[in-house]
Amino acid sequence: MLKTPLTIEPTGRLQKLPPYLFAEIDRKKRELIAKGKDVIDLGVGDPDIPTPDFIVRALQKAAENPKNHRYALDQGMPELREAICDWFLERFQVKLDADKEILPLIGSKEGIGHLPLAVINPGQVCLIPDPGYPVYRSGTLFAEGIPYTMPLLEQNHYLPDFSAIPADVLKNAKLMFLNYPNNPTSQVATRAFFEEAVKFAHQHKILIAHDAAYSEMTYDGYKSPSILELPGAKEVAVELFSLSKTYNMTGWRIGFAVGHPQALSLLAKVKSNLDSGIFQAVQIAGIAALKEGAEALQQNLKIYRERRDLLIGGLNQLGFKVDPPRATFYCWIPVPPGYTSAELCLKFLEEMNIVVTPGNGFGPNGEGYFRISLTVAESRLMEALDRIRKSHPNRSQL
Ligand SMILES: *Cc1c(COP(=O)(O)O)cnc(C)c1O
Repeated sequence: MLKTPLTIEPTGRLQKLPPYLFAEIDRKKRELIAKGKDVIDLGVGDPDIPTPDFIVRALQKAAENPKNHRYALDQGMPELREAICDWFLERFQVKLDADKEILPLIGSKEGIGHLPLAVINPGQVCLIPDPGYPVYRSGTLFAEGIPYTMPLLEQNHYLPDFSAIPADVLKNAKLMFLNYPNNPTSQVATRAFFEEAVKFAHQHKILIAHDAAYSEMTYDGYKSPSILELPGAKEVAVELFSLSKTYNMTGWRIGFAVGHPQALSLLAKVKSNLDSGIFQAVQIAGIAALKEGAEALQQNLKIYRERRDLLIGGLNQLGFKVDPPRATFYCWIPVPPGYTSAELCLKFLEEMNIVVTPGNGFGPNGEGYFRISLTVAESRLMEALDRIRKSHPNRSQL
């Protein structure tokens, strides 16, 4: 007997997710690769450099020990929380309580996605930056919260203008995501900005979730502050860190949240009902990274800095106007007049076989920009510059 398959309507929750703007680019990219074209992918924010050897070896050794094969503790191994505590103290001179103010995560994305389930009731507002990492919005929508976008504009140094948020929105706002160093704009925030944010959060009783995934990816002597350095911050803020970008560990899935103890315990409650902790061997490798990763990180940063200088120098010679980013491995570049972000990205792909990311994929305020990732070798960046040069012999046309 033939049976027709059950039709499942996507839930309202899923239908509210914005359309995936990179779908068309992904499709064209695959098409070109299938045709045998040499596509240079400057689109993805995923380090091309392998995880440092000593971290891989720590995992190998830990994976061989049957003790590590069982369910891990929901709140992470005490040794991992201690290692995070030590790292945080040394890096930011902030003392954390390893039991109450630290929560290991299966990557920071997991924490970002689950936090709204812990702190937002249906109909309550979550303030999110635009352009911004898409998970702030999807996490809010899954919790049936209402995302309210805070534009990040060039004239405001890509910092949100809190005074522009209407009073009725603020009344209903429970959570606010911030992200510095910022993806996609590569901008950094000053301590003064965080001070203002903490004051604002106290005033309006809003929990801040500061996504610090790029905290260590900084150049030219710049060090990114932790929001928890500010007096009163722990009372209103959690901060999310990731080992992914810092130690080339994107596939490993390990990060952590710190700060406001009650918010962390509510997040832990959500997590304990959904996951059962991080594979212990990965936690042990994470401890190794936090304890011994400083030198590997410096080598990484040197590579990205050289790539950055190569790319920015080349683009400026070609008539683009870009400042070298002080942080992240992204360059956020104004689209030349005469194109939308999407049009320019299609042109790059079709005429030059170069993938770059259209700014509007990160929110409407990203329109007019495109993002280039420095996650390919210098030789590929040179080839990309070459293709742009050849495709546009007349610079003013670009
Ligand atoms: C990469 C990234 C993350 C996620 O990192 P994981 O720890 O790998 O989940 C979070 N926020 C931003 C802004 C990112 O770019």
